[in-house]
Amino acid sequence: MLQKLEETYEQATAVLEQAGSNAELEAWYRAVLGRKGSVTLMTRQVGQLSKEDRPLFCRRVNEIKSVLDQAYQARLLKLSAAEMEGSLASEGLDVTLPGRRQRRGRLHPTTQTLREINRIWGDMGFQVYRSREVETDEYNFELLNIPAHHPARDLWDTFHTITPGVILRTHTSPGQIHAMREYYPEPIRVILPGMCYRYEQITARSEIQFTQVEGLALGKAITMADLKGTLVDFARRMFGADRQTRFRANYFPFTEPSAEMDVECILCAGDGCQVCRYSGWLEILGCGMVHPTVLRNGGYDPDIFSGFAFGMGPERIAMLKYSIDDIRAFWSNDLRFLEQF
Ligand SMILES: [Zn+2]
Repeated sequence: MLQKLEETYEQATAVLEQAGSNAELEAWYRAVLGRKGSVTLMTRQVGQLSKEDRPLFCRRVNEIKSVLDQAYQARLLKLSAAEMEGSLASEGLDVTLPGRRQRRGRLHPTTQTLREINRIWGDMGFQVYRSREVETDEYNFELLNIPAHHPARDLWDTFHTITPGVILRTHTSPGQIHAMREYYPEPIRVILPGMCYRYEQITARSEIQFTQVEGLALGKAITMADLKGTLVDFARRMFGADRQTRFRANYFPFTEPSAEMDVECILCAGDGCQVCRYSGWLEILGCGMVHPTVLRNGGYDPDIFSGFAFGMGPERIAMLKYSIDDIRAFWSNDLRFLEQF
C-alpha cells in the first residue's frame, strides 16, 4: 500500500513537471488532488490497513499532499508569468503604427469674419475697444440722441432685465460714449466689436442675438470725405480691390448726415441675382457724421471736434460672402453647416 502511494507520488510529480499550460495544470490538479484524484482516493483506503501500518501511512500521505500542493502552486505562478511575458512579446505596442488623428475643431464663421474685419481696421490704425453687453437705458438710448419719446426707439426691440433701466444692449453704439468719455480730449480711432440683442421674432433674416462691429473716428477737421475714403478703402480690402461701392442717404438718430453703404453684389458682380434682389448691390453697413448732441454727451465740443461712425454685422457680411440664406444657421450648432468654413 505504501509502495503504491510512493509510485503515485512519483508519477504525479513527473506529470506536473510536464504541464505546459494553465489548462494542463488544471487537469493535473483534478487528476491528483481533486475529489476523485489519485492521491485523494488513496487516503480513503486507510481502512484496509492494519492498525500498526495506519499512522505511518497517514503521515506519509499528508506529507505528499502538502508537497504536491506546494509544487502545484509554484508551477502555476511560473506558468502565469511565462504566459504574461509571451502575450507582452506578441501583442506589444507597435510604435511604428501611425497614430489616430485628433479631430480638430475650427473657428466659427462669425469669428473668422470678425477677425478679418478686425485685421483690416487694425491695419488702418484702429484699436479694438471692448465694451459691456449689459447697458443702461441712458447709454443705449438717451446719450445717443434717442430720448424716451423718440419714435426711433421702435427700431430697437429691447430685452429688459429685472433691474429697471438695465437692458441687453441693442447695438454696439453705447460703446462710443464709453470710448469718448475715456479718451477725451484725445483723438479717437476705435472699433467696437461685440454681441448685441434684440427682442425679435426669429426668422431666416433676423435673430435675437448677432455680432456688430461699430467704428468711431474722432478728431479735429474730420469730414464726410474722410468717412467715404476710409469706408471705401475698407470695402476694397474686405471684398476685393475692384469692388464698386455706393452711398445712399439714410437716417440714424446718432449721426447727421447719415448714410448706408452698398458694395457691388459679390455673386453676380452687379448683373443682378436673387441674393441682391436683382439690384446688383448689397448693403453692408450704416454710417454717418457723429451727431453734435452725441459728441457733447461724450464730452467733446462739436464746434472743435468732429468725427464719423459706422456699424456693420459680421454675420451679414459672412452671409453675403458665402451665400448663406438663413441667419439661424449661425447659432444652430449644426456641424454640417459649421464644417463648411
Ligand atoms: Zn447679385
